[in-house]
Amino acid sequence: MRDKTVQRPKGGRAFAQNSDGSLKFQQVYFVLDTEFRLLWIGGEWDEFALSNAGEAARSNEVLATSLLDHIADEETRRITRTIVETVVEMQEAFRIDYRCDSPSMLRRFHMTVQPMKDSRVLVVHDLRDAQSFPAPLKVWVHTPEAEDQKCTFCHAVRPAGQEWITADDLGEAHPARVAFTVCASCNGLVEEALAALRARKKPTGALTAGFGPKAERS
Ligand SMILES: [Zn+2]
Repeated sequence: MRDKTVQRPKGGRAFAQNSDGSLKFQQVYFVLDTEFRLLWIGGEWDEFALSNAGEAARSNEVLATSLLDHIADEETRRITRTIVETVVEMQEAFRIDYRCDSPSMLRRFHMTVQPMKDSRVLVVHDLRDAQSFPAPLKVWVHTPEAEDQKCTFCHAVRPAGQEWITADDLGEAHPARVAFTVCASCNGLVEEALAALRARKKPTGALTAGFGPKAERS
């Protein structure tokens, strides 16, 4: 049974880890073609890849590979594909807030998917806010067969047979093994933002900074 929070590259050094074992990045940007291949990468890709896919995919090794291969779960992959395809089709930028916490920090990110020439897109992930949790969460690892789920957009957790609970409320009860997915609430926000993009209207709910199942949306 594995209990490492991240896979370590050969040679033993666990890159992209803070001293408390968490992962961090402040900004990452990349260019995708219509096949979702990574044509260009900037910023802290290594940390980004680790926090999203839980695998050590260093930037110089992932160039020209598909972004979709570095996303751990099918639901996040499906949504990512839909967002990129909609941006290319509509030639309009898509923006959404999401959370990418570490066990010790609540972190809010802003993602922009910008159309470029030749049906390419520029994707930018920006750290907007970071706060320490009152009590650190347990370190978690994506485990496809885990019964507890974790949303990749708001980082809420659904323990098996229960409702979604925000990571903030879980504290030490945060499960160590979670299957990444996207919760119904975040799915709805993404759908709404995509519908607004297709209608060339301003989205109403997707940019609420730190949304989650319990977050108020006005
Ligand atoms: Zn969610």
